Amino acid sequence: MNRQDIGVIGLGVMGRSLAVNLMNHGFTVAGYNRRREPAQALAREYPEKCIACATYQELVSQLNAPRVILMMVPAGAAVDDVIRELVPLLEKGDALIDGGNSFYEDTARRQQELAARGIDFFGTGVSGGEEGALKGPSIMPGGPREGYAKIQRFLETIAASKGGMPCCTYIGPEGAGHYVKMVHNGIEYADMQLLSECYLILAEGGRSNAAIADLFEKWNRTEVESFLVKISADILREKDDQSENDLIDMIRDAAGNKGTGRWTSIEALKQEYNASLLTAAYQARVMSNQTELRRKFHGVLPVCTDEGGLDAETIRRAYSLAKVIAYAQGFGLYHDASERNGWHLDLKAIASIFRAGCIIQARLLQDIMNAYEAEPELANLLEAKQFSTLLQENIGDLKKTVLWALAHNVPLPLFTNALIYVSQLSADSLGANMIQAQRDYFGAHTFERIDGEGHVHHEWGK
Ligand code: NDP
Repeated sequence: MNRQDIGVIGLGVMGRSLAVNLMNHGFTVAGYNRRREPAQALAREYPEKCIACATYQELVSQLNAPRVILMMVPAGAAVDDVIRELVPLLEKGDALIDGGNSFYEDTARRQQELAARGIDFFGTGVSGGEEGALKGPSIMPGGPREGYAKIQRFLETIAASKGGMPCCTYIGPEGAGHYVKMVHNGIEYADMQLLSECYLILAEGGRSNAAIADLFEKWNRTEVESFLVKISADILREKDDQSENDLIDMIRDAAGNKGTGRWTSIEALKQEYNASLLTAAYQARVMSNQTELRRKFHGVLPVCTDEGGLDAETIRRAYSLAKVIAYAQGFGLYHDASERNGWHLDLKAIASIFRAGCIIQARLLQDIMNAYEAEPELANLLEAKQFSTLLQENIGDLKKTVLWALAHNVPLPLFTNALIYVSQLSADSLGANMIQAQRDYFGAHTFERIDGEGHVHHEWGK
């Protein structure tokens, strides 16, 4: 009997788009959705390629062993629910892909549980939103290396491609795929916040939305070119269909989130790794929602508008450096997590699969690839020649931008954090000797002397 190539469970926004992408590439699909209608609709639309299944049993029976099934359901309990019902129906050697935004430690647990039953479980990050899923996302599969061949042809065929290479590669064992996706989202939060700060500072400098859109389009022909710069320009040109205004001016000043930026921040703290821009980007979204508190303190530091403002090229160069710092912190997290967990992450390959299909695709990623090509074990991208040169050349612009913002009471948490990060890196002293003395004073935590070995305690004031 001719069976379907792959099963897809959860035909919501992402699952449906990925199923269509698979069919557009010649694969046949057995589709299942908890509410039956989405699977039936898809089968009506693609009668030759899609079969709608009413039960997991039916889905499993429509696939040849070893079966490959992709789930696209919300992270958390829904993933465990599907696994609980589906897995007893599967056989040794079958492969299950979780393409949602699951937490990487949940993925590692599920992988262990399913490995005990002989099932290959792949926690797989998918980036690119609905359109990416349909036309070619960036895909980050993690799981048992030896089972990857079973899912490779599906994922690498439907992924975006850049320079003839698929934007999908085996990432690593355990939860490595979902970890990489999580930090990808952390970088995404940081770059979105940086661009919102560029917009703010340009707007407070008296520029119209159209003028800022013009600038962003110009910027997109320079080294800061990215998908996010492009859509920011598009957004600023959009008209509201319910008023005479630009749509951007009709959107409430409060940003939502679905948790991956928070997870990245928590993991950075757990790893004791300074990803200050990624963390500040999440906090900035939190702050935007403190509406009542913001109302109470409104005007304490009134914004002083300034016709002309700071020159746009200074802001662009400041953005270019701050963005490199954000990516460097994100890739630094990868390096650190890889060492801690023995994942052997290939950072050049990760930069490569981010170059198309995903939200953080940017020209900068080619430079990041070059940096890892020259030095695969580089711990901090800022050490690479091209980035340390950029740091030297643009640090003045970053400082000028932050000082302008401080003088005019325009809050720029990420630009400010970027400047502080560089100033911490370059300072002779961080004052930590005082902290260590205080710790020893009240808690006998000891300290290291600059002129000797080992840890000593001092009887303070005696
Ligand atoms: P949707 O809400 O559009 O779809 C969710 C799907 O999951 C629906 O088919 C729903 O079925 C099904 N579902 C929910 N709970 C259960 C359950 N307990 N058992 C079985 N099926 C269930 O979500 P998305 O497609 O947007 O997202 C899916 C995953 O992909 C999430 O983890 C999300 O974070 C991730 N993701 C989303 C992106 C996006 O841009 N939207 C981008 C990248 C990843 P029903 O129709 O019956 O409710």
